[in-house]
Amino acid sequence: MITREQVHELAQFEEQGACALSFYFQPAAPRNKAHKEDAILAKDLAREALRQLETKSNGKSSSKNNYESARADLDRIVRLAQDLRGNGARAKAVFACGAQGFWREYDLPPQLGGTELTVSRHFHLKPLAQLLGAFPSLGVVLVDRHRARMFDLRLGELNEREGFFHPLTRRGRGDGFGGYDAGHAERRVADDALHHFKFIAQFIKDSLEKNMFEKWIIGCQDVHWSQFEAQLHSYARQKLLGRFNAEIAHVSNEEVRSQAEKIFAGSQQRRCQEVVSETINQARHHARGVTGLRRVLNSLELGEVQTLLIGQNYHAQAVECAGCGHLDAHVVSLCPVCSRETREIVDVSEAILPWVIRHDIELFYVKDDPEFDKVGNIAALLRFRSEQNKNVRSITEVPAHPSLGRQPGLVGRYRGAASG
Ligand SMILES: [Zn+2]
Repeated sequence: MITREQVHELAQFEEQGACALSFYFQPAAPRNKAHKEDAILAKDLAREALRQLETKSNGKSSSKNNYESARADLDRIVRLAQDLRGNGARAKAVFACGAQGFWREYDLPPQLGGTELTVSRHFHLKPLAQLLGAFPSLGVVLVDRHRARMFDLRLGELNEREGFFHPLTRRGRGDGFGGYDAGHAERRVADDALHHFKFIAQFIKDSLEKNMFEKWIIGCQDVHWSQFEAQLHSYARQKLLGRFNAEIAHVSNEEVRSQAEKIFAGSQQRRCQEVVSETINQARHHARGVTGLRRVLNSLELGEVQTLLIGQNYHAQAVECAGCGHLDAHVVSLCPVCSRETREIVDVSEAILPWVIRHDIELFYVKDDPEFDKVGNIAALLRFRSEQNKNVRSITEVPAHPSLGRQPGLVGRYRGAASG
């Protein structure tokens, strides 16, 4: 499964020869001949990509080498698609650039929009960003009175990390006679359970603080919940997305995964709706929200954006400055910042993705929301609103994300991610 660092590596990649290949493979729903169709589709896409490369490389000898190495990559992708037959449970992404000896393959959950293959100067990251979206790393904790199991869930993959077993005190031999001994033993059992709950609650808090996971989900039986919940630190409670009913000894991993994903999907949907209405509301009051491409680009360049909202099917043109990297929503031929020439970007929502990924900006693709549609299908919730945000400034003057230190010209390196 792909890590954050690996996504960042892809976001930084650039090949001037425009022969960076991005292949997303979404297995077809199982039905007759479906596997064969998958492979044929990949072959067709490869042929089309090759045709594009051919047009670009016409006559130029440097491009000729790029063409040859891209051709080898495409052959390998087609073979891979054939091998993926019968592997219906997994989707796959391949990022390749033979000219730089670059080849990365990742398994993904089968939730891509479809199989696609693109050739560009940058890798095509939207399908990946849609999957990752605001995906936090999730912890799933199963607990009962003397056991606990810890899992992490990322991109549909569940892995068990830790297990705890605190045996309850064995009842004394006198239990069977009732009276004092039996009551005493009962209290010991209750004390042991409480001690165990406290230990697990502390472990969860520590894990959150160490960033082992950002959000978590609990599976436990109703009878234990109130006692365990009472032991949770308020910080851990804030990060809890939900609970499902589970008996730790009998629940299967598959059940844990599907229950946790259901809770996660519900919480994502609520969070997205909340952010949309908060952003629109903030923008109305000229506070911590902006709407519309021009203002969103400006806020991105100013380093103000905390959460970016993009309509699921949003497309817009823009220009980028070949000199300073400034992105502008107005299709102007000269850069308003440095007066150098600009070039057109076909899909600005793709062009800003590397920047979004590099700066760990929370991203939501918003589906069918009439309110959001009215404000232009692109908006951002801001961390702060800077004084200068009415002026257009060059991206190179922008202070980078605090945790990354100052990295001038960051966007400049990614410009034209979606240029044709
Ligand atoms: Zn410029």
